[in-house]
Amino acid sequence: MKEYEKTGVLSLKDLRLPNEKQLEKGVAIIECVQHIPCNPCVDACPFDAISMKDINDLPVVDFDKCVGCGQCISVCPGLAIFVVKHIMDGKALISIPYEFLPVPSVNDKVEALDREGRFVDTVVVKKVVKKGKTWVVTVLANVEDAMNIRNIRV
Ligand code: SF4
Ligand code: SF4
Repeated sequence: MKEYEKTGVLSLKDLRLPNEKQLEKGVAIIECVQHIPCNPCVDACPFDAISMKDINDLPVVDFDKCVGCGQCISVCPGLAIFVVKHIMDGKALISIPYEFLPVPSVNDKVEALDREGRFVDTVVVKKVVKKGKTWVVTVLANVEDAMNIRNIRV
């Protein structure tokens, strides 16, 4: 039984994770674990980095092909795609799909939350873009929090 089936919350044990080298260039982390007929993430990737055996299967990211461009984030109706990029000085950039109001601005300080909505840290917004109906907010955080921060509260 998967960890999230016991707790109702995804854990890192449920996910395929990239290695450090892949994280340094930036990669998509897809937290999609339900077998539903859905595949816009596959079509959105200009680098053919996301694959699926069939439309009911789970998407798989080829972390070597992925360049961390974030094009797949806003097309996911489940808000299940994040991009994590490790940068210098123990910091990471985390790009998060966001559909709440208010929408933050660059340089705002916001509360970073984990998968259960618990406060992790105060982080700085570095980029805000809108594609379709979903905003993508990129925050700067400590690298040790990069796999836990999955939402923000403005
Ligand atoms: S981040 Fe860019 S390259 Fe990586 S899977 Fe998404 S669309 Fe493809
Ligand atoms: S678009 Fe989102 S919900 Fe749909 S298969 Fe891809 S990751 Fe899963």
